[in-house]
Amino acid sequence: MNGMSSYSVRTYGDPVLKQVARPVDQIDGALSRLVDDMVETMYDAVGAGLAAPQVGVQKRVFVYDVGDGPVAVVNPTIVETSGEWYYEEGCLSVPDLRLGIVRPMSVHLRGYDLEGEEVSIEADEFLGRLFQHEVDHLNGVLMVERLEDDMRKQALKVLRDRSLGLDTTALEATLVSASSGDEREI
Ligand code: ZN
Repeated sequence: MNGMSSYSVRTYGDPVLKQVARPVDQIDGALSRLVDDMVETMYDAVGAGLAAPQVGVQKRVFVYDVGDGPVAVVNPTIVETSGEWYYEEGCLSVPDLRLGIVRPMSVHLRGYDLEGEEVSIEADEFLGRLFQHEVDHLNGVLMVERLEDDMRKQALKVLRDRSLGLDTTALEATLVSASSGDEREI
């Protein structure tokens, strides 16, 4: 038995996804309940990460689970990055679209846990990508905006055509390479 409930995930076109979230100024029971509900929502959506703006809440907190149980990071900042990595990202807020994006390979993330203790995590590959993607959500940035101009135009055309009910299969194939991203959406 638990008291968790789940939100619906906001998707592309919802203005809340374009806004910069506010820092959390109090780590309390209300924040814990929000985090519980975000974790539930993430599991319902079969995602690996979820940021508060994706459920319409303008607070700087995200949750993730890459197989070791759920983790919440409050007021996260990326303090250092290195390397470069091409990966095909999927976003719960841009459903069913993989985008091949180059970003730093490794990141150093700092923030706070739900006890108010400082956390410091170094991550690379998928987890490093997840951290960058979630911090982007807190800044109102969607993965589409991380594409080079030409590719971004194509991705936006896919989203526009889809909203008109057109078949975008061929166009989508131009947005990823032969190897596909195989991790869950974030
Ligand atoms: Zn996302």
